[in-house]
Amino acid sequence: MKVIMELKRIVRELRTSYRVFKYRGGEYYCPFCENSSNGFIPIGLPHQAIIDYKIIGAGIRNGGCVKCDAIDRDRLVYAFLEFELDVLRNDPSLSILHMAPELMLSREFMRYQYKQYVCADKFMPGYHYPEHTINRDIMDLDFGDNSFELILCNHVLEHIPDDIGAMKELYRVLKPKGTAVLQVPISPLLTTSYENPEIQTAKEREQHFGQYDHVRIYGQDYIQRLESVGFIVNRINISKKFQSFGVNPEEDLFICTKY
Ligand SMILES: [Zn+2]
Repeated sequence: MKVIMELKRIVRELRTSYRVFKYRGGEYYCPFCENSSNGFIPIGLPHQAIIDYKIIGAGIRNGGCVKCDAIDRDRLVYAFLEFELDVLRNDPSLSILHMAPELMLSREFMRYQYKQYVCADKFMPGYHYPEHTINRDIMDLDFGDNSFELILCNHVLEHIPDDIGAMKELYRVLKPKGTAVLQVPISPLLTTSYENPEIQTAKEREQHFGQYDHVRIYGQDYIQRLESVGFIVNRINISKKFQSFGVNPEEDLFICTKY
């Protein structure tokens, strides 16, 4: 078993070295692994619903880092946290909740000292979770009211049947004047999010929502949903400033706060 694991590791390293060489260049940059390249590798899903609804943040695109596998939307959130919010530094006053943490982003946070940096996910059988991640259900967060200055919860809400209930929990544990980054895949074509209670199986969800475990496609009313639980939502697009990160120019950030 150990020999197989070691062989797999060597194959992975060889593949990465080849990709780094093949994509060598200076046009693009990954802030996580600090690799410069002439492009990114294809990622995303090919499902028809993603194409039909032009879902941003899901379809096939050149967005994967050749060296560390971080993807375009991770780099966009990084850019916001580092250059707009200025939180990627030692700060003993900050408590941070990171739901379903993106690997490279959570490694970045772990480089620094905070009052608290909590990584949480709902553990599912058959999946492996990093050691620093704790098992928490977004519908029933085991934290007090007003616990965190910063919450990251990206590409989670589209999996949750009662997303308004989850938003209420996130709102509850966010401190007043705190910031929540709540990214979802979203369709620019839909005014109202597409949900359909008749869709029950993984195959149907893939056909209707673009992924086997999604329960809706968000439309432009995503903001009103967030506002309905009390969030003040600032929808911004910073992609022009960070083109060298290979971010999606169409991808907006949904930055939420409460008073
Ligand atoms: Zn990288």
